[in-house]
Amino acid sequence: TIRTRFAPSPTGYLHVGGARTALFCWLFARKHGGTFILRIEDTDLERSTAESVNAILEGMTWLGLEYDEGPFYQTHRFDRYEAVIQQLLDQGDAYHCYCSKEELDAMRAEQMERKEKPRYDGRCRHRTEPREGVAPVVRFRNPDEGEIVIDDIVRGRVVIKNSELDDLIIARSDGSPTYNLTVVVDDWDMKVDHVIRGDDHLNNTPRQINILKALGATPPRYAHVPMILGSDGARLSKRHGAVSVMQYRDDGYLPEALLNYLVRLGWSHGDQEIFSIDEMIALFDVDNINHSASTFNPEKLLWLNHHHIMHGDPTHVAHHLRYHLGQLGVDPTDGPEPADVVVAQRERCKTLVEMAQASAFFYKDIHGYDEKAAKKNLTADSATALAALHDKLAALSQWEKVALHETVNAVAEELGIKLGGVAQPLRVAVSGTSVSPPIDATLALLGREKTLARLQQAME
Ligand code: GLU
Repeated sequence: TIRTRFAPSPTGYLHVGGARTALFCWLFARKHGGTFILRIEDTDLERSTAESVNAILEGMTWLGLEYDEGPFYQTHRFDRYEAVIQQLLDQGDAYHCYCSKEELDAMRAEQMERKEKPRYDGRCRHRTEPREGVAPVVRFRNPDEGEIVIDDIVRGRVVIKNSELDDLIIARSDGSPTYNLTVVVDDWDMKVDHVIRGDDHLNNTPRQINILKALGATPPRYAHVPMILGSDGARLSKRHGAVSVMQYRDDGYLPEALLNYLVRLGWSHGDQEIFSIDEMIALFDVDNINHSASTFNPEKLLWLNHHHIMHGDPTHVAHHLRYHLGQLGVDPTDGPEPADVVVAQRERCKTLVEMAQASAFFYKDIHGYDEKAAKKNLTADSATALAALHDKLAALSQWEKVALHETVNAVAEELGIKLGGVAQPLRVAVSGTSVSPPIDATLALLGREKTLARLQQAME
């Protein structure tokens, strides 16, 4: 069965690019009934932070990308890496290198002068004596001959000659393992058979394969996924807007909308744009990953978000709306069922932040009115309408939409004014603004008590 992993380095928030990689790994595992592993690559002690580990875990949870094994932390596995480094030394596949920085710089300068590609020339391979007072690094003894063939699922056949590679450092002078060594040991120990990752790692792959072979391990299959670009063609970064997954939560996106957007970013199934999670799992395959980079399009993401708000199960959407109401200091238990609010609001709200802002009045007292709306609608004339409404609504035996609708109509008719001349002042009085769901739905959700109190408040 398939075993795949997502292996972020905790040096910042969970980036949308990382989230897409995680999604592809997760979908691939789910589709094939495989195992999805989360591995935190935190060996860079200077750049890794606990905060960013939490941000990654939080992002994965919010997206619903649950892992079957892990999280594993590379910092917990130093003994194992040390043992493998020793094994490679014992086998003669690695050696101590005592070259100083000055020596390496001089070597590089000479190579540049000869117009050669700078590479470590292996001068310590045959050294038998340690150099006094120098803590050595450990280098992997890369094969000199032959080539590495990567049958990449996305890229196709990639061939690299060993003569183009040099002897990679696998342990620093303080003994700590380097990135390529830890990845290899982990992929091997965790029996990973499919590595799906950004194509910025393609350069590392032949080196990793050589180390795996030296260890007698079968290399996994690789799928190197093209980059995500911003609209200007540069690699997607902060300057193109929000790139952190949690920022999208904060901006009012549904996780399934972000996932739907990300799955289409670099993968397609005909011209289908809308995918539920189940459809993604059923239809996704690594074979359909695009070969070229994709461009991040915030408008399309917003459009998808609105789609998922509109067509999602209201109870589910309400679960996320509650979070945003909470962010506004609104207590969602003190008013209508949030799922009903979702149904009333979803057509006009593209994000849950918008929806929460537009719905706070259902729960929270209003203090003051939108200035423009009040100037236009809460006038001496409208006071008559509001008074009439107050009396008629107070007398209603059933507080439900049809009766509410008829009441507003009846007041307009009695006063000989257009429906809007009644409904709009009423809307401003109860919501504080000139936009809300249809007035009958608004009143039904708001309830009798709050409606009457706000009418009273508006007439004062
Ligand atoms: N830790 C690496 C990164 O965050 C990923 C390594 C891998 O997937 O092999 O870029």
